[in-house]
Amino acid sequence: MKTTRVWGGRTLVYVDDLPLFGHIAFGVLDRGTNVLQVRATTLCPYNCVYCSVDAGPYSRRRLSEFVVDADWLLDWARLAYRLKNGEVVEALLDGVGEPPTHPEIARVVEELKGFVPRVAMETRGFTLTRQLVDRLWDAGLDRLNVSVDTLDPVKARWLTGVPWYRVEKVVEVVEYTVRETGVDVMLAPVWIPGVNDEDIVGVIEWGLRIGVGKRFPGFGVQKYEAHKYGRKVPGAREPSWREFYDYIHALEERFGVVLDYRKIDMGFRRAPRIPLIYRRGEVVDLHVRLPGWLRGEAIAVDPEERVVVTLVGVEDYTPRKVRARVVENQDGIYIAKPLD
Ligand code: SF4
Repeated sequence: MKTTRVWGGRTLVYVDDLPLFGHIAFGVLDRGTNVLQVRATTLCPYNCVYCSVDAGPYSRRRLSEFVVDADWLLDWARLAYRLKNGEVVEALLDGVGEPPTHPEIARVVEELKGFVPRVAMETRGFTLTRQLVDRLWDAGLDRLNVSVDTLDPVKARWLTGVPWYRVEKVVEVVEYTVRETGVDVMLAPVWIPGVNDEDIVGVIEWGLRIGVGKRFPGFGVQKYEAHKYGRKVPGAREPSWREFYDYIHALEERFGVVLDYRKIDMGFRRAPRIPLIYRRGEVVDLHVRLPGWLRGEAIAVDPEERVVVTLVGVEDYTPRKVRARVVENQDGIYIAKPLD
């Protein structure tokens, strides 16, 4: 593990020896389905106004960022695959950062394809180039989920929160991907009522025109959610689920496409989980290793180095032993509170 500094003094951790199970922000996540979430980096160059994970250079809550060594990540992804008895249909490169910025993302895709039938990746698109798309296609990438909330250049810059964002470049690279490669594109705009209602119509019209969704559904409209610790769109309100479904069902009727996730069959099913290591309430002796992802957290490791545990309510990040009680273990993401 090596550390340096990034963006206003945050610790940037190059992860090549921490366990890659147990943390929500980096490594491999299993939510009890046949999809493995593979999180290679927490770094994100954007500053989206609605970011639920408070990412980017101007983040207020982040204390550390993580970039995972490609070989180390692949070792843990293979282990997850084995622990799930091979019942994995897709590896999804997603996370609390922008996956294409990982320096070895194409090799990660290529090696994942060696044992997982499908590999998909989420992106906001601006970090893609034609060359990178070609490399990802050669590596076997099946699908890009691209978040484009509007085609209006000014609104797009405002929504992504960075002055250099040009949606025209995203349009160009997405059209190249659809036209010149076999990587499928799913457009995944976030609907913010009163902010981009008509823009989503434009995104759907554009997607239909260029032919997204050759093998998979072409659209996956997402609901804007104002998370407690995320960023909120000034002046906008979070829609209820009822409003959201009314909105997308009206679009479905208008365009004759399926937008409701519940009707889309991508082959996702329940599947054996990676066994949990610690129960809620269990007391564990942990080794504090470094400052956590968010303020008030530390990264700790269990004695056998099987999982990372997020220690909450701490301000002291110096390496030491701490006795702690596990307060959360959902989906194998471990959170603990120190006892002393
Ligand atoms: S919403 Fe996604 S792309 Fe935007 S800042 Fe957050 S992590 Fe980055």
